[in-house]
Amino acid sequence: MNRLHYILVSLMLLSMITACKTSNSAAKNNSTKQQTTRKLGDIALNGKVYSAIWQQNAGEFRALCYQAYNIATHNIDTELKTNRHQRPLAIITDIDETILDNSPYAVTQAMRGNEFDNKTWMEWTSKGSAFAYPGAVKFFNYAASKNIEVFYITNRSTKEMEGTQRNLEQLGFPFADEQHIMLMNNTSDKEARRMEVLQKYDVIMYLGDNLNDFSKIFYKFSQHDRNQQTDKASEEFGSRYIVLPNSGYGNWESALPGYNYQLTPAQKDSVFLKNLRVY
Ligand SMILES: [Mg+2]
Repeated sequence: MNRLHYILVSLMLLSMITACKTSNSAAKNNSTKQQTTRKLGDIALNGKVYSAIWQQNAGEFRALCYQAYNIATHNIDTELKTNRHQRPLAIITDIDETILDNSPYAVTQAMRGNEFDNKTWMEWTSKGSAFAYPGAVKFFNYAASKNIEVFYITNRSTKEMEGTQRNLEQLGFPFADEQHIMLMNNTSDKEARRMEVLQKYDVIMYLGDNLNDFSKIFYKFSQHDRNQQTDKASEEFGSRYIVLPNSGYGNWESALPGYNYQLTPAQKDSVFLKNLRVY
C-alpha cells in the first residue's frame, strides 16, 4: 500500500466512524424527544385498558387464578378431614372478577371514552357471555361433589338475575339458581347476605376479588384503614379468605378519593398521582 492509498483508506474509516456516532446521538436525541412528548393522563380510563390487556393475555393472570383455586381445593380437603361440622357446609363466593371475567366490558367502555355506568353494565351482563376465571368451574364442581353448597353473593342488581343465571349455567357452575345467587337489594354491604347463609350453614371459605367480599371489617373504610385491616387479617388470606386477581377496579379505587364519585378525569389523575411513590 503506497502512502497516498493509506491516507485515503484512513480518511474513509474516520468518516464512517463519525457518521456512525452522529446517527447514534441522533437516535438518542429522538428517543429523548419521544419520551418527553409522552404524558401521563386519564389514568382511570387507560389503566382499565392496561389491566384488561393483562387479564386477557398474561399467563401470570391465569397462574394466579389457578393458584387461588388450588389453595381453595386443598382447604376443602383439609376441612373435610377435621370432621368438626354438625351443620351443612357452604362456600360463599363473589361473581365479578372472582369467577367471571368482565374485562371485555371495561375495554369496550374505555374505547368509547367512558368508565363504568349502570346502563351499559346491564347491557353487558344481560348477554350472559362472560368467560369463567381459569380454574373456577372445576373448583366449584369439586365443592359440589363433596356436598358443599355454593352461594354467589354479588352486587349485581336484581334486574340482572336472568343473564347472570344463564351465564353461570352455560359455563357449568353448580347451584346456579335463584336460591343460591344472592343479588344486591338495597346495599352494597354484603354482611346481611353472609349472615343469612350463616344461619343455616357452616361457611368454610369466602372467595372474592374485593375486600368487601370477605368481611364487614373492610366495608367503605379509608384507604389507610383498609390496608391496616388487611394487615391485621393477614393470616386469613389463603385459608378462610381466597383472593382472586383484579387490577382493573374495586373498592380500593373508590377509597382513594374518599368515595367521591363526582370527580372529573383530571381530578382523579391528581388523586392517583398524589398517592404514588416515585424516586
Ligand atoms: Mg368482584
